[in-house]
Amino acid sequence: MKKILFSLIASLILFVSNSGAISLTDIKKPSTVTKKATKGFTLGNLGTFEFKKDHANVYIMHGPPMNPSVENEGFMNNPTVIEAAHSLIVIDPGGNYNVGKKILAQIERISDKPIVASINTHKHGDHWFANKALLEKYPNMLIFAHPNMIKAVKNGEADKWFSILQRLSKNLDGTNNEFPYPNRELKGGKLLTIDGEKFLIRHPQRAHTDTDIVITHLNSQTMFLGDNLMKSRFGAFDDSSSIMGDIKLLEDIEKEKELKLYVPGHGPSGKMHETIDPFLNYMKIIVDEAGKAYKDDVETYEIKDRVVKRLKDYQKWDAFDDQMGKHLQKAYDEWEENDM
Ligand SMILES: [Zn+2]
Repeated sequence: MKKILFSLIASLILFVSNSGAISLTDIKKPSTVTKKATKGFTLGNLGTFEFKKDHANVYIMHGPPMNPSVENEGFMNNPTVIEAAHSLIVIDPGGNYNVGKKILAQIERISDKPIVASINTHKHGDHWFANKALLEKYPNMLIFAHPNMIKAVKNGEADKWFSILQRLSKNLDGTNNEFPYPNRELKGGKLLTIDGEKFLIRHPQRAHTDTDIVITHLNSQTMFLGDNLMKSRFGAFDDSSSIMGDIKLLEDIEKEKELKLYVPGHGPSGKMHETIDPFLNYMKIIVDEAGKAYKDDVETYEIKDRVVKRLKDYQKWDAFDDQMGKHLQKAYDEWEENDM
């Protein structure tokens, strides 16, 4: 407790009560001033990007749902700002320092309240590397993530994602002289309160990865699913992930009372079923087909053509050709694992 207070005293004073609630009592303005943007920023032919107020005090900038590239400058996730009474709270600010500076300038169009916290959904750098730009202006900003995430990024995942994103976007300069690691642990089941805003944290043990948190902002009834949910774009399922675990998570969420808004890690936000069903149904088809192949003792490449036909609605999603076969094999491996 004391350690937390000492580290924060420099630019803002936070009191952490026994219940874990954090309230802001005194906030000094930062010394650096960022040049104020007057309009959104443009990426190649992909359009102009700015925060839009969705409802209540929630502002989302939906990045282009595609792989990182030179054109998108490595920006393709959905940074969000929650405007609290005295401060701003950011969720997944973006994929590198340079994009982070542009996003910061856009945040300042919402309000000049200070950014006191960044909550990061999981270990992949396209979601949290932009902490770097926010930290430059707010060095005492709290950065929250699941303990597994913090461990993974410090044990090589940050370097791995730096290489991936640098290769694809060539825009990572300034991101890694020291990675902007999360500095506060956030476990599943925790209710985090910052400046009157309440966030309920859920940790699916293995879904998109084993480092994810799903964040429900109770004040606005908004759920941030990170990459456990994507729309219009596919990403990889790595060794720490579970497609079956992700299905279970999304099915559990759909059984609960509907909230106002569901925000995927990539792609457009919306109501429960329109936002969750497409990816959920995709994963269910993948697991179903992989299960049949496993039982029939057939290799996944032998059934690929049939599966592609069954997934015709998904062929327009970004990275379908790259990822579908890998997802099928991953689901096959999970069937095999469960059998042992
Ligand atoms: Zn991810």
